[in-house]
Amino acid sequence: MTISSGLNWNDTRCIVCMQEADLSIEHIIPRSIGGILTCSFLCKSCNERFGAGFEADTRIAPEIRKAAGQHGESISDLRDRLEVGARYKQSFGDNDRTAELRKDRVLGAAKLKDSSLIVPEKEAEQKIRSMLGKSGASDREINSAVKSWEEAPPNTEVDLGHGVVIKKWQNHPAHPTYDEPALSPLVPLKIAFEFVSLILGGAVYQRNHTLQEVRRILTDQDEASADALIEVGLATATAPFHGIAFQGNRPNAQVQVRLFGTLRFIVEFPSLGIKTAPITYTHDLRTGVDEIRSRARAS
Ligand SMILES: [Zn+2]
Repeated sequence: MTISSGLNWNDTRCIVCMQEADLSIEHIIPRSIGGILTCSFLCKSCNERFGAGFEADTRIAPEIRKAAGQHGESISDLRDRLEVGARYKQSFGDNDRTAELRKDRVLGAAKLKDSSLIVPEKEAEQKIRSMLGKSGASDREINSAVKSWEEAPPNTEVDLGHGVVIKKWQNHPAHPTYDEPALSPLVPLKIAFEFVSLILGGAVYQRNHTLQEVRRILTDQDEASADALIEVGLATATAPFHGIAFQGNRPNAQVQVRLFGTLRFIVEFPSLGIKTAPITYTHDLRTGVDEIRSRARAS
């Protein structure tokens, strides 16, 4: 069964704030990391607050990018999309620079400690023209300087006149700094809560202390309380997939969330039991195919 077209929801109340509202399409696993499972059960206000709040840095979180990177070229499009805006460090002689990776997969311009300027190669000619122009060079001098730049050997300083000295840096690999904010525990908690809601259907609106507390944690963006409900681990996975599983009541309802196969979160719902067989959602990130399987139906 392919379910990526979106699941129907038969109520008009938001599952988080419980208010009657125009419900909006919610990506249960954030779309920014390739999630495709959707359901219209969040109001616009809750949806936007989550998106601009604890979900905002999900794509760029170091553990997310490292987990995606383990799968090499098999999910290269998604892996590369996660890196846009990430910080990279590069060394030039005794100088280091950090810059964000742009959409065109190039690190932006940056000034080094010695006040020299690093410019992406395809923007260098434009920069040389404007610097020389500002220093009063004639068109002929500028054209001749551009020619000298084009012919300059790599890793060698060349004086273009008017105080402009260039160096064509080559073989200067950039390395991710991985100093972006860590993944918020509210992300796996939200995924697990929404999956439980899918299983419960209309029963999610019944008065229940545990569900009410999870709603409060999500609404208040209370990361410490979210942390207390989650056990984080690393799994070995050979295939890249996103997954969510209701694992049964042990004795509390337990949901496992897996991102990129290896990032594993076990979410506990204290004092909550759900009378249903274990049920698993998987999304193969190579083929884009997703499915929900119930253990009861399979046996
Ligand atoms: Zn709401």
